[in-house]
Amino acid sequence: MTIHQELQVHEQDRVPWGTEVPETRAEELAPRLRVEGAVQTARRPVERAVPVPAPAVTGHRFLVYKQDPSVTVLGVRPVFVPTVVLNGPTDARITTVLPNVTPVARNINGDFIFTPNSPQFDCAHTFAVVRETLTMYERHNGGDPIPFAWNVGGSTDRISVFPRAGQGANAFYSRTAKALKFLFFTPQGQPASTTVFTCRSLDIVSHETGHAVLDGLKPGWLGTGNPPQTGGLHESFGDLSAVFLALAQPDQADALVALTKANLHDKSFLSAVAEEFGAALGKPTGLRNADNDLKLSQVGNEVHAISQVFTGAIYDVLADIYAFELARQRRTKDPAVVLIEVAAALCKLLFDAIVAAPAVGAGYVDVANKMLQISASRGDPAIYRTFIRNRFAVREITTAATPLRDLLSGEMRMTEADYTGDGQDITEVEPFDERSASLLAEQDRSLCCGTMQMPEYRVIDSERLAKRDPLEDDDILRNELDELRRAFST
Ligand SMILES: [Zn+2]
Repeated sequence: MTIHQELQVHEQDRVPWGTEVPETRAEELAPRLRVEGAVQTARRPVERAVPVPAPAVTGHRFLVYKQDPSVTVLGVRPVFVPTVVLNGPTDARITTVLPNVTPVARNINGDFIFTPNSPQFDCAHTFAVVRETLTMYERHNGGDPIPFAWNVGGSTDRISVFPRAGQGANAFYSRTAKALKFLFFTPQGQPASTTVFTCRSLDIVSHETGHAVLDGLKPGWLGTGNPPQTGGLHESFGDLSAVFLALAQPDQADALVALTKANLHDKSFLSAVAEEFGAALGKPTGLRNADNDLKLSQVGNEVHAISQVFTGAIYDVLADIYAFELARQRRTKDPAVVLIEVAAALCKLLFDAIVAAPAVGAGYVDVANKMLQISASRGDPAIYRTFIRNRFAVREITTAATPLRDLLSGEMRMTEADYTGDGQDITEVEPFDERSASLLAEQDRSLCCGTMQMPEYRVIDSERLAKRDPLEDDDILRNELDELRRAFST
């Protein structure tokens, strides 16, 4: 049992998840958390002389893998979802579908706590991670709900989450199905016990939820008629959703700081995206590595690789701002708290920049410029913009409006709030190469996740997709159906 596979309760109350609990021990635990399979007893009220305010907050506990089953340093932990969740799990935006299993019922304490890796656990886990991702972006949206692409004209249709949608080494978001689907696979030549369920990966669930959120914000971005960089923004937004969701959780931020001694460029569970999935394919740093050094000139028009360039630039900016803020606040704040605050501020900046970017055909320079302008308007120190300009320039995304001399010689003054390189706090930069294949070629999506492979985004034209509108299967076949209609009407 690792220290994380247990309740956050008194030392003598430690119980490993998923194990049978003797009746007497269950009685001790009952007031705190119901363990599946244990005999429950009534809560014993604590005597108090002074009344306490009744808590107004509703909410439920869920068990989740904080990364995935292979990342044992984090393991499975309880999380608190502070909103109303009905049996399913279902709430106002999200519902869960697993035939013969759902609706999964809350226990007597209102919690969705199940033996890890059981079908019920997979339903609760997947729901919780989708909910946490959506909630994170709604916080950055000023607390307002973010519509799914089909939530127009008063439609409140939910997104359906399928934790075990079928066999396959993939997962995807579909607008026509209004669904997130997570598949499972057994690596070739391996026993069934090695089966990888993509729904058990926080990174993968968060990535696919990121596609759904972005399709709601920017319905024109998924179409293949856009430049490869627009596709890259979609894939990158998915990976960055996983990175920012991890850093929105105090226990993950704390574990990361301890593991890396507060150096985000150390190899860690944060930069390795989808570890278990990657390991099954023989990749030691996860399916993707957010902490990479790729430049645009190295990636052609392959959208997954292009996305890694943007993800890497944002990851570098995160590490730069964290180093700066840690130096500034190290005497007054815990390093994990600084990391949580820095990550939330950068996630909000990226979110706002994407909202402000063009509705179709957006490129990396559009988002970079919006980040620079919003950062200036919200009063960030000038060095934040220097970090952003530098990192996009090093990746050959933008021209080097700020001299890179200090950065490349290792002499940049990382702790100087007003540092700009040459005294100019520029908030408008140009593309490094307007002839880049990542801007001009057709999108090659062959190595992207399942979302980017869906025919609905490849066949339906971008203008139709750009209307925030429900799509139906027949929309995918629209051209063929129109041809048939003409043929059959003569
Ligand atoms: Zn994707």
